[in-house]
Amino acid sequence: MIIGVPKEIKTNENRVALTPAGVLEFSKRNHPVYVQSTAGEGSGFDDDEYEAAGAKILSTIEEVYAVADMIIKVKEPIESEWPLIKPDQLLFTYFHFASYEPLTEAMIKSKAVCLAYETVELPDGSLPLLVPMSEVAGRMAIQEGAKYLEKPVKGRGVLLGGVPGVAPGKVLVLGGGIVGTQAARMAAGLGAEVSILDINLPRLRYLSEVMPPNVNTIFSNEYTIRKMIRDHDLIIGAILIPGAKAPKLITADMLKTMRPGTVLVDVAVDQGGCFETTHPTTHDNPTYIIDHVVHYCVANMPGAVPATSTLALTNATLPYALQLANKGWQKACQDNLPLRKGLNVVNGKVVYQGVADAFGLDY
Ligand code: NAD
Repeated sequence: MIIGVPKEIKTNENRVALTPAGVLEFSKRNHPVYVQSTAGEGSGFDDDEYEAAGAKILSTIEEVYAVADMIIKVKEPIESEWPLIKPDQLLFTYFHFASYEPLTEAMIKSKAVCLAYETVELPDGSLPLLVPMSEVAGRMAIQEGAKYLEKPVKGRGVLLGGVPGVAPGKVLVLGGGIVGTQAARMAAGLGAEVSILDINLPRLRYLSEVMPPNVNTIFSNEYTIRKMIRDHDLIIGAILIPGAKAPKLITADMLKTMRPGTVLVDVAVDQGGCFETTHPTTHDNPTYIIDHVVHYCVANMPGAVPATSTLALTNATLPYALQLANKGWQKACQDNLPLRKGLNVVNGKVVYQGVADAFGLDY
């Protein structure tokens, strides 16, 4: 199968869908790989590295789409790419169809086969191609939070780890899933006093077993949240209710009870956010202040650390991409149920219930 790797053209997207290490794996199995020139630049891979691993470099995106049986990408194809997609071409990337109807319509029209990273699902309900980005965002939440706690950027002026003779900062993590666990670990590693709140008791039991001693696990309810936000320096929003908007666990009135310079990092912003005062921000202008409380609400946090995010993403996607190339999408999806769940649009028809329901389409 011929593999095509276009350069990502969405604003501020520096990740790439295949590393030179991935190219080598395809080449070893006799699948030719065509990479658009400078596709890996933002993640630290130059064209020579791809060539050395066996790829051919093409200078334009049009050439990549024209030659490939399977396009591997990171973000959904944007409007200028839609006319380049061919019937029967396999597209393996994040799509997030349910949030954007014109993309769904365009892919139906293209008659391509759209396999979405975000709906590949393991038997336990986990989403293996979303997990790596949650891991990145969770760890980054503390790095960003620590930065915005500094006084020159209107934070409280607290050093999370404290110093000998001075108490460490206090971090409150709402939600103890992938994001919350990684955030708590990072904060604990810096020496902060950390509390994780969740409504899932078995999860809290697990976290209490595996977390270091400076992390407390606490059952989440409004009373506890109202009490704890008064003396915490950094609050991380890491809630997810699958398929639904995040609940607003911190309401606008609660901001007034926080100390000036408290920092809120709402990682759940991509699901609407778990703070009432959240609105999405970008890496160019990541924060805003309401009632002296600093809000950081960047919807694509992993985009700021592409050298890490690209490796994290491709570690997870490559085994699936190799199966698709080795067997063809039909046989690969027949043999591998998690991969089959990734099929969203096939040859002009929506085949994923959530997407069909979102737009009232036949399923
Ligand atoms: P997850 O499913 O692993 O964890 C979510 C946790 O929230 C679960 O443990 C659940 O029990 C808990 N929860 C649900 N309702 C709660 C409530 N009312 N009170 C307390 N806890 C509650 O999800 P995740 O992978 O950790 O993702 C968390 C959020 O981060 C999601 O919204 C995801 O889309 C988002 N995310 C954002 C970025 C970004 O760049 N901004 C990147 C990755 C993930």
